[in-house]
Amino acid sequence: MRAAEHKALRTRLRICEHRVEIPFRDQLRDRPVRQPLFRQSDNGRWYLYSQFEATDARRAFPCFDEPGYKAPWDLTLHVRREDTAVANTPVRSETAEQGGMKKVVFAPTPPLPSYLVALGVGPFEIVAAGHAGQKSTPIRIIVPRGHAKEAWYAVETSAPMLDLLEHYLGTAFPYAKLDNLVIPQTVGFGAMENAGLITYAATIVLAKPDEATLRFKRHYVEAFAHEAAHQWFGDLVTPKWWDDAWLNESFASWLGTKIEDRFRPAWSAGVDPIAARDRGARSDTIVSARQIRQPVTSKHDVENAFDSITYAKGQAVLQMFEGWMGEERFQAGVRRYLAAHAFGSATAEDFVGALAAAGGDAAIRPAFFSFSALCSRGSPAGGRSARRRNGSVSVRQFSRARLLSSW
Ligand SMILES: [Zn+2]
Repeated sequence: MRAAEHKALRTRLRICEHRVEIPFRDQLRDRPVRQPLFRQSDNGRWYLYSQFEATDARRAFPCFDEPGYKAPWDLTLHVRREDTAVANTPVRSETAEQGGMKKVVFAPTPPLPSYLVALGVGPFEIVAAGHAGQKSTPIRIIVPRGHAKEAWYAVETSAPMLDLLEHYLGTAFPYAKLDNLVIPQTVGFGAMENAGLITYAATIVLAKPDEATLRFKRHYVEAFAHEAAHQWFGDLVTPKWWDDAWLNESFASWLGTKIEDRFRPAWSAGVDPIAARDRGARSDTIVSARQIRQPVTSKHDVENAFDSITYAKGQAVLQMFEGWMGEERFQAGVRRYLAAHAFGSATAEDFVGALAAAGGDAAIRPAFFSFSALCSRGSPAGGRSARRRNGSVSVRQFSRARLLSSW
């Protein structure tokens, strides 16, 4: 905008409600370069997908692309008549247009941040996977044409896992439907928790019955439980800013493992957090290690926030506090947090405050923000010495091991 235009606009605008329309156009590209909207072919047919987390929605359309800006979204797509279009919400109307096209209007979304908006277009096959939960949420597996029979494991297992999640969280699935959309090949991510439209790499969801190994089954259960847990933690309640990305990822890792353990006890997923703790501790020994709750001041900081400190150390910290508070009190805190901030945004302070209130223990808050939890690097290496003295316990933490890394 030229200076004169800017001045004229400034003098014309008054303080009141304005509607801004920004026309824009772009061209679809093929993955593998990282693109917010990209196309892929499978068996000679073309498909369109999206992947916005963390800061790529702004490259797809003009928007306030920060997690604290949650707003309802109205999506309208103009697509070929023979294609199916999916997005975060159910289709509200389809109208034929000229040139073999159709206009697909989706129902408005509940408030969402831009990074959770998602869509898919193509000659998909849609496989019904039953209903789950208090509101009988419909679950579907959406696959490239010709792959419907390979979705059988997701069809069998998704609804009972969603039931388990609702049962733990004590609140209904927040969206009108849960679609699971298969992408032939993902780059830079395996699965993504878009509200009401989870996307996955094909290798996580699709396998012929005689090729479905235990490893494949465990991978799908783990991925679905993690992404479905995000529908509450991240989607329903979103971090105000990326420094609390751990609220999303640590929690989804921790709860995903719990759900996997309840769903298939024979797999002993309950011991997985020990491996996660070790993974986190290994990353923590590097001198350049992040703290779980790291200040984020640039786009690159956001990328860094999605590492094993956030996922694995964060999961271990939640596990530790659950063990300290007791499972029931911890669960009550989680439910309190979700109820207080549903469809809104929250911070680590809000989460820990809810735990402390439910736990009835003032020590929870300072402990959570202490060395061992969110706001310090490094793990205790030498253990702790404790000794009783005059009826009180004195605890001393030894030095932390750090590695000088040449990476
Ligand atoms: Zn995640």
